[in-house]
Parts: sequence; C-alpha cells; structure tokens
Amino acid sequence: MVVVMKPGTTDEQIRNLVVWLKEQGVEPDISKGTNITIIGLVGDVSKIDTELLEALDTVESVKRVSEPFKAANRKFHPENTVIELKDGTKIGNGNFVVIAGPCSVENEEQIIFIAEQVKKSGAKILRGGAFKPRTSPYSFQGMGKEGILLLLEAKKATGLPIITELMDISTLDLFEDVDIIQIGARNMQNYELLKELGHCRKPILLKRGFANTIEEWLMSAEYILSSGNRNVILCERGIRTYESYTRNTFDLSSIPLIHKLSHLPVIADPSHATGHADLVAPVALGATAAGTDGLMIEVHNEPSKAKCDGAQSITPDAFDVLMTKVKRIREAIL
Ligand code: PEP
Ligand code: MN
Repeated sequence: MVVVMKPGTTDEQIRNLVVWLKEQGVEPDISKGTNITIIGLVGDVSKIDTELLEALDTVESVKRVSEPFKAANRKFHPENTVIELKDGTKIGNGNFVVIAGPCSVENEEQIIFIAEQVKKSGAKILRGGAFKPRTSPYSFQGMGKEGILLLLEAKKATGLPIITELMDISTLDLFEDVDIIQIGARNMQNYELLKELGHCRKPILLKRGFANTIEEWLMSAEYILSSGNRNVILCERGIRTYESYTRNTFDLSSIPLIHKLSHLPVIADPSHATGHADLVAPVALGATAAGTDGLMIEVHNEPSKAKCDGAQSITPDAFDVLMTKVKRIREAIL
C-alpha cells in the first residue's frame, strides 16, 4: 500500500502519521520526491482503515500495490535508487558503472595486473571470485579467504572498490572491507541467505537466477529490502533457454522492464550471458543502448590459462576498445 501525501505537508505532519502507522503494525518507508512525498507500507496492511487514512487532510490518496513485490516496486518509491559506495562511487539514476576483473582471483600478480589495466580503461569497480560456485565439485573452487585478502591488496594498490561473491553466511566476517557482496545466480532463491543480508547495510548485487522470471528475481530483492537493507543492485546475467550456441540467453528486455517495475539499479553481465569472448562486446553495447545502469565484464590477462570462465573472458586490450564504444553509445542515447 502507498500513501501519497498532499504537496506542502510538513516534516512534523509526516512524522506524526508515521508514528500512527507504526502503531497499526506496518513498516512505513518514506520516499521524498521533489514535489510529493510517498509513504510505502509493508507488512500486514489489512488492519489499516484506508477510509480513515484518505480522510486525513494531509493525505492526497491511498493506493494498493497489486504486484507481490512492494519495497522493490516503483510505485512504492518513484525516484530511482542510487547506491553509494564508501569511496563515493554511485550506481543508478544516470550514474553508470563498469565492474571488471577475472572470474576468479588466482594469484597476487594476476589480480593486481588486471586491476591496474581495467582501471586505466575506465572500470570503476574490480570483480574477482574468491568463493566460486562451480557446477562440478572437481573444478577449481576459488582461493577462499586468501582470495579476499588478495582482492583487498588490489583495492589498496589501485583504489578500486571491490565486489566478490558470498555463498555461505558463515563467511560474512571476511567481507567486512568488501564494497559490494555478490549473490550469484545459483543462490538467488536462497531465502535464508537473503534474509541475513537484509540485516546488514552493505550493497548487494543480486544476480538473476538462470531459470527465474523477472517477478521471482524482484521477490528475491524484496527479501533483502524487507529485512532492512535498501542497497540492492540487480544484475541480468542471462537465462537458460533451448539455445546451445550460447551459455545462456541474454534477456535484453529485462533492463527496461526492471526500470519500469522497480526503482532499483540494474546492470548487465554479458560474460555469463553469452559464454563466448567474441559475443561479450556486442551484447554489452546492446545492454548499454537499452539503458543498463552498468556492466560487469570478465577480463583476464591470459584467457586461455584462466582457472575459471576463460572462454568468456576478454583481454585488457579488448576491454579498452569496448570501453571506448560504451562511452559512444552512452553519449548517443543521452
Ligand atoms: C560469476 O560472476 O563469476 C558467476 C559465477 O556468475 P553467475 O552467478 O551469474 O553464474
Ligand atoms: Mn565467471
């Protein structure tokens, strides 16, 4: 349910209404726009007397949100959410960011070299997996804690904020200086994990599950938001279809659809979406033209020797060329 306040309502009047709403057992979320203020309500709204609410002289209207996702809904929060990292990097509402780096951290020289290269080309955030969710238990599982320590070294050396995947809440302490926690496609519906992440304030990048609808994806975001963490970024990384020439099928329309349905930023991952290095740039450019708030690109200095996802990793040189083209597309759609 959303309560639209009349223009000119004072902060004190809003505060009083919030106190009353809390007494009714719902959790109000205030969204202040330039002209109007909206109070979104989550929880059991069935006990709220909507007629009484509508009759208040500070209230313009009361609307029910029919979609199952409430806090993630644009009706609940009309303005675009902007996620701000500790170093001031912003994501969303026109703040476009490129995240780049290897699929997994392999050693110190590798991660620092790639970090320096991608930074030079304009990447704003460094990625690198330390805990890897591999399809086969016999594949490289990531360096674990050591991998996070190496990412922190790369952060110190370059000043780039870092993102890495969390698979098990018991390792959360290791993520203290990680700037964004990635929740991978395989864990998109791990609701206990999502609820726990709702209790921290760290930005969460929530990847779309490969067999999930947009509504299911937004419901997963809802788990994090409704538990109290409003710092959620969505990531389209392709879904499974009958097509076998690509690793997944990139769902381009999810980008404008998410912008229509939700206020959360959405970025695109053309690396996992295609699985092939030569398809990464065209899909990245398509996503940019469709209005994505950012890109996540796998970059490796020696893709043929990568311990994970070498076939879809592009070289630092190819990344540099791509960044120039991304810039041109961004200028063209402004
Ligand atoms: C990754 O980013 O390396 C990864 C494992 O991605 P996904 O969860 O989208 O498969
Ligand atoms: Mn990968």
